[in-house]
Amino acid sequence: MSIELSALLESDGRQKTWEWTPGFTTVEIAGECFPVTADGPVTVTVLNAGQKVLDITASGNFTAVIPCARCLDPVKVPLSAEAFREADTKLSPEEREKQEEPMDYLDGTKLDADVLLKDALLTAWPIRVLCKEDCKGLCSHCGANLNHTTCDCGEETYDPRMAAILDIFNKRDEEV
Ligand SMILES: [Zn+2]
Ligand SMILES: [Zn+2]
Repeated sequence: MSIELSALLESDGRQKTWEWTPGFTTVEIAGECFPVTADGPVTVTVLNAGQKVLDITASGNFTAVIPCARCLDPVKVPLSAEAFREADTKLSPEEREKQEEPMDYLDGTKLDADVLLKDALLTAWPIRVLCKEDCKGLCSHCGANLNHTTCDCGEETYDPRMAAILDIFNKRDEEV
């Protein structure tokens, strides 16, 4: 949602809160797209802190769909996203770009709160998601999901060379 802040900038100390439904349904992380849905309206509060500086807080609760790190089944993960920015609107576009946190959520005096919420989601994103604590993962030989099925790759085809490879897979899995 785009919010025009020029009126708010006229009166120091003034604060306003908006509620809306986010205009995005996915977030991109490391080139991958993940579905996200807001669990209700999200809010943004803007305070005119004086000297043309705005204190902006955007927050909302979301459900993200993230693949399990072991078996790749989709897992619904609740995420609570909150972003706070102190935006100096006196800065020129060039100066805004050089800020430690890019002010890409502010175009002139127009606030794009969706940009802030996406940033907040990236911050809240879990490093690793499991469908359940004891997820059995995929068979490293045939790729079967061992939570739902069993495969014949077990002891029948036991072969010391294969076992060494499985060891590597298991180690890698533990490190994920
Ligand atoms: Zn799993
Ligand atoms: Zn198998």
